[in-house]
Amino acid sequence: MLKVNDSEKALIFEMSRTGRAAYDLPKSDVPTVDMESVIPKGNLRQTPAELPEVSELDLMRHYTELSNRNHGIDSGFYPLGSCTMKYNPKINEDVARYPGFAKIHPYQAEETVQGALQVLYDLQTELEEITGMDAVSLQPAAGAQGEWTALMMIRAYHENRGEKRNKVIVPDTAHGTNPASVSVAGLEAVTIPSDEKGNVDLEELRKVVGPDTAALMLTNPSTLGLFEENISEIADIVHGAGGLLYYDGANTNAILGITRPGDMGFDVVHLNLHKTFTGPHGGGGPGSGPIGCKKELLSFLPRPQIVKDGEVYRFDYGIPNSIGRVKAYYGNFGINLRAHVYIRSNGPTGLQRVSEEAVLNANYMMRKLAPYYDLPYDRICKHEFVLSGKRQKKLGVRTLDMAKRLLDFGYHPPTIYFPLIVEECMMIEPTETESKETLDEFIDAMIQIAREAEEDPTVIQEAPHHTAISRLDEVNAARKPVLRYKKPVEESVKGSGIHEPVQA
Ligand SMILES: *Cc1c(COP(=O)(O)O)cnc(C)c1O
Repeated sequence: MLKVNDSEKALIFEMSRTGRAAYDLPKSDVPTVDMESVIPKGNLRQTPAELPEVSELDLMRHYTELSNRNHGIDSGFYPLGSCTMKYNPKINEDVARYPGFAKIHPYQAEETVQGALQVLYDLQTELEEITGMDAVSLQPAAGAQGEWTALMMIRAYHENRGEKRNKVIVPDTAHGTNPASVSVAGLEAVTIPSDEKGNVDLEELRKVVGPDTAALMLTNPSTLGLFEENISEIADIVHGAGGLLYYDGANTNAILGITRPGDMGFDVVHLNLHKTFTGPHGGGGPGSGPIGCKKELLSFLPRPQIVKDGEVYRFDYGIPNSIGRVKAYYGNFGINLRAHVYIRSNGPTGLQRVSEEAVLNANYMMRKLAPYYDLPYDRICKHEFVLSGKRQKKLGVRTLDMAKRLLDFGYHPPTIYFPLIVEECMMIEPTETESKETLDEFIDAMIQIAREAEEDPTVIQEAPHHTAISRLDEVNAARKPVLRYKKPVEESVKGSGIHEPVQA
């Protein structure tokens, strides 16, 4: 919440005093070297960088204040659908800081980093078991890069067989990265509609598969939170036409230990370790999007793979048709390590419980909210569900307004206006790590907002009232950021005192 004097806060640049420093180093005891002698002149700055010079305490306060203005999973509920904003267990962080992991260098000789290689090898094996695949590469740094990597393998696979296949079928519920990755991989996306139950429309699928089909990319459960009921038939149709089946596994949070892409007929998958496997998420930090594949794609994997010969771990560069290296070094080691810790600390039964409770929480919330919002797909959902704000739109309240109103209650809003096929869509993913009390409080806030839409829509239309800043021109805010926040007097009066949210 905003403090009265927040608007007077100086920028860190204004606090700068020449010569003031947040560090104190002893005099150097090695000879100084001229920059010009080690860096080519053209690469040297002409003028020193303009960096604030402040004390350690001012530096700490600056970052602490910034972090307090942010919303993260450690500060509040974050039901951002498809993003799986679940708690990041601190045991992961603890292990990631062991000096033996944190202080090694990727160019160290293999025999000096056997422990780190074992972590990666074991994680590959664990993910193979979880997905039902024959091999896993940990290189891709995000879901989208995993998609691209696997599509490049699919492309190489068809080319290697002398087949010209360049079409990738993508349902209309797909995450935007799917068609984007298809294009970047030099292939062509073909969109097919979903049927009224939210499944892939089989008739449409039969119409578009053919001798030019490279693959079908499917998210299962889909971004509607629904499990594809005809997955076996879909696999038969695509395989029957000589195409491969790609599993977008960003939503694996719903199926751990219950079913596996490999068993559903998929040939290749990507996972989002920063979603399902509790890697810290967002803020531009590193992610990890490993891919897994069945036997027929093994020879196209990125290199190197991590293998075990007897008791020795090593990098294997001898992958005959490899698409090459897709990431510097061997992937984001720190995120892969955290996922390994998460998998080991839960064990197989723990992981299964994760998914069972994620599904239970989503269904609980969906049923509680169904009387107040339109429920476009009235089926048991998996880890998330979608609501439509159609009813509220008729009262002059858009889904965007309701998302802004949720900020007043201290929540990060759900994903909105996605998937594109649902009008005024809200996509809610509570995750398994939240308590029933938290779920109930959020449900209460959503019910209050539904009531406000009927009784007093302006309070939603003008929300948020209780945040440090209100609605931004988002394009301008990104292009011309105003770092100094000054609260206009009228605005602070308007927002105060009215319609206190239930838990403010
Ligand atoms: C998040 C997500 C992706 C993309 O993953 P990034 O790590 O953000 O690149 C792809 N598909 C689905 C369904 C997702 O939810």
